[in-house]
Amino acid sequence: MRLYLSTKNKHKIMEISSILSDTEILTFDKLPDIEETGTTFQENSELKSKYLSTLVQDDYVIADDSGIVCEALNGKPGIFSARYAHKNATDKDNIIQLLDDMKDVVNRKAYFICNISLAKNGVAIANFEGRLNGIISYDIIGEHGFGYDPIFMLVDGRTLAEYSSDEKNSISHRMTALYKLKKFITDNI
Ligand code: IMP
Repeated sequence: MRLYLSTKNKHKIMEISSILSDTEILTFDKLPDIEETGTTFQENSELKSKYLSTLVQDDYVIADDSGIVCEALNGKPGIFSARYAHKNATDKDNIIQLLDDMKDVVNRKAYFICNISLAKNGVAIANFEGRLNGIISYDIIGEHGFGYDPIFMLVDGRTLAEYSSDEKNSISHRMTALYKLKKFITDNI
């Protein structure tokens, strides 16, 4: 089986290749900009996987969409996680915005979510979701990871930015979704 990825991110490509070790992994030479006009993570990942799969006839394509969801903010930042503070926000801008929005909030429950969509010839075939529960910390702590990791605290009191990448990979929302995809491929394709 050949599987195209909708990413140019070397870290993601390596991560996916190591998990789907029996699958031939390919990437697009030129990745078109696809506007994420969906209202859910699933809609956005399907928009991308379906469109890209029309460019590679009879091959499978996966696309993902991920973000952070805060219970007390009615799901925000949600699908707008990457541009929460403003359109061209950096990770730091987004973290500061979220800490500010949460400053008087007692319920700090949050989760990371990753949705992976598998498509072929323009049709979505299956969808896989992973979640990681935690709370939003009051301070920015830790040096590892990216995005909201330094303010996402796990049950052991450490933020994800204090986890090594191996530790994070063993529990992350992305890995959970990827292992579900692997099982689907093994069982069905
Ligand atoms: P994307 O779907 O990979 O573009 O991620 C969307 C946004 O969600 C990123 O810009 C991050 O801000 C956030 N995000 C997704 N996964 C993670 C994670 O594992 N750690 C921290 N932030 C994440």
